[in-house]
Amino acid sequence: TMEFTDRVNRVEPSATLAISALATELEADGADVVDLSVGEPDFPTPENIIEAGKDAMDAGHTGYTTSAGILELREAIADKLADDGLDHGPENIIVTPGAKQALYEIIQALVGEGDEVALLDPAWVSYEAMAKMAGGDLTRVDLSESDFQLEPALDDLAAAVSDETELLIVNSPSNPTGAVYSDAALEGVRDLAVEHDITVISDEIYKEITYGVEPTSLGTLEGMADRTITVNGFSKAYSMTGWRLGYFAGPEELVDQAGKLHSHSVSSAVNFVQHAGLEALETEDAVTEMTEAFEARRDLVVDLLAEYDVDVAVPEGAFYMMLPVDDDDQAWCEGAIEDAHVATVPGSAFGTPGYARISYAASEERLEEGLERLAEEGYL
Ligand code: PLP
Repeated sequence: TMEFTDRVNRVEPSATLAISALATELEADGADVVDLSVGEPDFPTPENIIEAGKDAMDAGHTGYTTSAGILELREAIADKLADDGLDHGPENIIVTPGAKQALYEIIQALVGEGDEVALLDPAWVSYEAMAKMAGGDLTRVDLSESDFQLEPALDDLAAAVSDETELLIVNSPSNPTGAVYSDAALEGVRDLAVEHDITVISDEIYKEITYGVEPTSLGTLEGMADRTITVNGFSKAYSMTGWRLGYFAGPEELVDQAGKLHSHSVSSAVNFVQHAGLEALETEDAVTEMTEAFEARRDLVVDLLAEYDVDVAVPEGAFYMMLPVDDDDQAWCEGAIEDAHVATVPGSAFGTPGYARISYAASEERLEEGLERLAEEGYL
């Protein structure tokens, strides 16, 4: 028999897997499952980006690239970050196969055995797993009492962090709540980070998907440039989940250290995918169209839920919202899929029991169908 490391024994398989397994089983039996559990846009990748990928293959961009990624793409990313007010040269950027890999490398570089990692709950599931795989101890701050907003919970954050805190992860717009943190909230984060010398990851993968608000990049705040690592990717804004393309930008010393992990693990992101990424950064209309569609769906879901007397914290970005459900959210989600054939993700997977995450990256027709079924089966 094999003996496994603490590193892997410490983490659980993804909680969404249990729900997908149930959904697959039901579908195999012929059931029509409304899947509101997925974390990806339901749109195809824009045609111009697909063409750029094909052209890059035809042009022979099929070999290894420099580990950090092709210079043109890092320059284009630096320009994009400059538009957001962040000052990074190509040497401060590493292109990764997805933002997930970026986060993994940063956390591996910064978090060691017993180091404290602070999360704002509910938090995207993989932060916890990555911190634990690195040997970190988690400190969690619950935002559920403040409609998932950070500003009213700054006192709780202040009480949770200390000089012992190595890393804080901030994700705005948030998966799973869709919350966009106010400037005052980010300034509060800055004050604590400076006071306790905390490094902060700003996961901005949903930054391009917002509804009438402009999220501020944490790294633009005074005092944050040398302690913030900005993470972003192409999966969500450009509907490129399967292409696996993301990046991080931060202080050179961090980029050098994480770059060692990068070069000894993935080598680089895929060559022709990086070229497609260059085209993606030039794409505007398709992004606007998708965002407008998400906004219309958000409005639809919020309105329908109001008809059923369900009050939700209205998301200002991303394509998720948290639905208040029974205390036993796991049982609620299993029941909802078995009885109503509607797949959602239990809030406890994100550290916040009593909720279910709905993804509204589904057509309006399917969203209506799903909510109707949940209501009919007594889940709303
Ligand atoms: N960060 C957040 C908050 C996410 O929701 C996701 C994907 O679900 C990722 C990072 C990783 O995205 P990718 O690896 O596809 O770039």
